[in-house]
Amino acid sequence: MKTIGLIGGMSWESTVTYYRRLNEQVRDQRGGLHSAEIVMRSLDFTRVVELQKADRWDEAGMLLGNAAADLAKAGADCVLICTNTMHLVADPVARMAGVPLIDIITETAKALQQDGRKRPLLLATRYTMEHGFYTDRMRSLGLDVIVPATAERQVVHDVIFDELCKGQIRDGARDAYLSIIETARAEGADSVILGCTEISLLLDPTTLALPGYDSTTIHADAALRFALEGTLGQAA
Ligand code: GLU
Repeated sequence: MKTIGLIGGMSWESTVTYYRRLNEQVRDQRGGLHSAEIVMRSLDFTRVVELQKADRWDEAGMLLGNAAADLAKAGADCVLICTNTMHLVADPVARMAGVPLIDIITETAKALQQDGRKRPLLLATRYTMEHGFYTDRMRSLGLDVIVPATAERQVVHDVIFDELCKGQIRDGARDAYLSIIETARAEGADSVILGCTEISLLLDPTTLALPGYDSTTIHADAALRFALEGTLGQAA
């Protein structure tokens, strides 16, 4: 079994989901007392959020890149950035890691393509919905990603940082998200991407008005295939 490197803490609420998913899947697939081989760097999320807010993405890239290099030194055979947003700096992190970076955008695109989806709604932080590193990439892969209107994007973003990343799960936030999904369905979306690693704490992707694609599970499962089967998968 290969060793999975996690850059976590963004937020730690979703890093827990990765840790649990990886271990449960290795137990289910290998049986007995098998568990995943993992090394982790869990960052202080406040440092990362300050860099995001100040648009200091180069420094953020260095911070995560150094963490990736630490993981490789500690024996990681691959690295995962356990957040969609910070894939904005995936290129420098991949360079500094020196081991394969399993990319959450690529893996999510592959899952959508496998099911023939064409027009997914993206729910994520404003950085992910607005900066282009995510939507442009998806569009270049033939996926006509749509995002909510400005006011709704702010609601989705605020729920992530003010509630989910602090472990607060509220019915009001769930209702707001469900209403945004319903609007997108009426406007022709054929699926919904839970494009922030905390959203599955709020929404069950199997019970939505549109087929749901949870980036956290998709990303963790790609790491499992690498760890257990040695496959990195095809590019999307
Ligand atoms: N975990 C979130 C994501 O997947 C947001 C936290 C962050 O800004 O990194 O984008």
